[in-house]
Amino acid sequence: MHIREPKIGDPQIKPLGKRSNPSVALNSIGHRFPKMTKINIPISAPDLSGNEEAYLIDALRSTWISSSGKYVDRFESQFATLAGTRYASSAANGTVALHLALAALGVGPGDEVIIPAFAYVAVANAAKYTGARLALVDVAPQTWCLDPSKIEASITSQTRGIIAVHSYGHPCDMDAINNVAKAYKLWVVEDAAEAHFALYKGRTAGSLADIATFSFYGNKIITSGEGGALTYNDKSLHHRIRMLRSQGMDRTRRYYHPIIGYNYRLTNIACALLCAQIERWKAMVARRNAIFSCYSSRLSQIQGIGLQPVATWATPAPWLFCITVDKSLFGADRDTLAVGLQERGIETRPFFVCIHHMPPYQQHGGAESFPVSEQLSRVGMNLPTFHGMTDDAVRQVCAFIEEIHLRGA
Ligand SMILES: *Cc1c(COP(=O)(O)O)cnc(C)c1O
Repeated sequence: MHIREPKIGDPQIKPLGKRSNPSVALNSIGHRFPKMTKINIPISAPDLSGNEEAYLIDALRSTWISSSGKYVDRFESQFATLAGTRYASSAANGTVALHLALAALGVGPGDEVIIPAFAYVAVANAAKYTGARLALVDVAPQTWCLDPSKIEASITSQTRGIIAVHSYGHPCDMDAINNVAKAYKLWVVEDAAEAHFALYKGRTAGSLADIATFSFYGNKIITSGEGGALTYNDKSLHHRIRMLRSQGMDRTRRYYHPIIGYNYRLTNIACALLCAQIERWKAMVARRNAIFSCYSSRLSQIQGIGLQPVATWATPAPWLFCITVDKSLFGADRDTLAVGLQERGIETRPFFVCIHHMPPYQQHGGAESFPVSEQLSRVGMNLPTFHGMTDDAVRQVCAFIEEIHLRGA
């Protein structure tokens, strides 16, 4: 039912290195897509037009290409300031940042962790790495994030904490989640991978729980290709995170490792890119917000196209523009629209598959266990959103959607 990514072995795809086939293109984050028409609009593309090149060359020439160096220190201190926390630690990617957060909080076998049924799979995977059991909770139709009113029913004596994922840039209702957590003495981790610089009641995503995690993967708002971070205020957590990130080594005694840790460090090279990216965060968010407004004003006119809800207390991060497709009103379902757009050279993404609909997590729910999650997963899709996308390109995507609506396919 979902659009399958083209794979090597497909008739129209040549293996890398033998890309003589002109009907296949790679976008800048390495996704292959069929080149059907002249206009090719990728789902995402990083903008590296600021000091990225200068800092990268500086890091390279300094020979500090490993995981120490001035860009690591600069990024961590500036990112903590931006998130509004005392500390920030970089990590190799967003998935291990989450694992590191849970490990630092002491999560292990026998514990239970609450996560949303609808989220990127990294959330479930990272929690499973600790040996904990998952408890899935449905998302709320008003936020597409964890429904605070449904958390309490899944708390058991084994529950240790909640991962609140700010999905598609919209912050969770953190006061409500933190209140439940407080009542049951649970920790809360925010996953802000998709919500860089989002605001909840005026406070920044990343400063609203015990620990927050970020991803800087190529399609995220701020990127270093691969990369991640954790933000938090607690000093003892800081020591644990630093220790676990670096093979569990003692802070004061080199090569003495009192606990089993990991190598989850990020390089000075990646942090050089991040330092350049965060210098321009306001402009990047502003441009993406302009793209969002352009999409919203056109698409709200098309019958059967639904837009992402925004709670009164939320200033969402403009990550990937989201729509839902109501087949009976639009005239085609989500997957048909995606194929139609692909034929017109527009790359899209279906919404995430629910966690309990994937083989490793099937025991956590059957059909219609989490109705809001399941409905979103069926009808939602993302449209191209990136800093360098022109208003004309946005209008082109909207015009194609209108055309498919009018023709019914
Ligand atoms: C992207 C993402 C991650 C994982 O980040 P990686 O850097 O790809 O490991 C985790 N959680 C959410 C919600 C994400 O969107």
